[in-house]
Amino acid sequence: MTEIEVHSHARRQLIVITAEVQRAVRESGVDRGLCHVYVPHTTAAVVINENADPDVPRDLLAAYETLVPNISFAHAEGNSDAHFLSTVLGCSVTVPVEAGRARLGTWQGIFFVELDGPRTRRVCVTVAP
Ligand code: ZN
Repeated sequence: MTEIEVHSHARRQLIVITAEVQRAVRESGVDRGLCHVYVPHTTAAVVINENADPDVPRDLLAAYETLVPNISFAHAEGNSDAHFLSTVLGCSVTVPVEAGRARLGTWQGIFFVELDGPRTRRVCVTVAP
């Protein structure tokens, strides 16, 4: 398992981690298998989506905001919106590994999703044959 350190600079932010994940796959020496990317946090997530037009991550963040229900949360920390979005978006993704690389589509990138930053975060990458 490889740990990637991610530094967010805003409360909500999408941070591309594709290159770091591909490096972890390369360094694992696994030619064919699965790459599991996991976020061990309760107010963050990981998603795969278009990393070509910078408007896409901006639009996604704006759309995520509309999912937060207008209810009275009980959690005293005041960040239940972030806990909620973390459960909706999910804390892991799995990508097939072919020829020693995570087999992403042409336009796909792997994004760490900060939902309650700014913070220093960790992402766990496990590559298995
Ligand atoms: Zn909390």
